[in-house]
Amino acid sequence: MTPAEKAQALNQAGMCIICGTPAKTRTRGLCRMHHGRFRRKLDSLPVEEREQFETHLIEQGLVLPNRRVSASDRQPLAFDEAFTAFKERREGSEEHAASDESSDSTRGA
Ligand SMILES: [Zn+2]
Repeated sequence: MTPAEKAQALNQAGMCIICGTPAKTRTRGLCRMHHGRFRRKLDSLPVEEREQFETHLIEQGLVLPNRRVSASDRQPLAFDEAFTAFKERREGSEEHAASDESSDSTRGA
């Protein structure tokens, strides 16, 4: 049984996957206290490292996967990366683009 599977089993049994305390209200398998700690650790990391940290915790059985985040939901990150690269690439030509826009609007009016 992997740590992740053990965590799933504890969650099925209605227990916090960290402390094993029976807790009716759990978020991602964690009791209120442990979910709070998980959030604080996550928030202390730079945004770009959070997903990696979360994946690590899921593998270690320290938090359950967020069911709402499926593989297809992660796809927009690919757009973010492409968008950043695109913006960096066109930064040099921005002045030129701006003058083009203003001449267009003069023509329109
Ligand atoms: Zn707990």
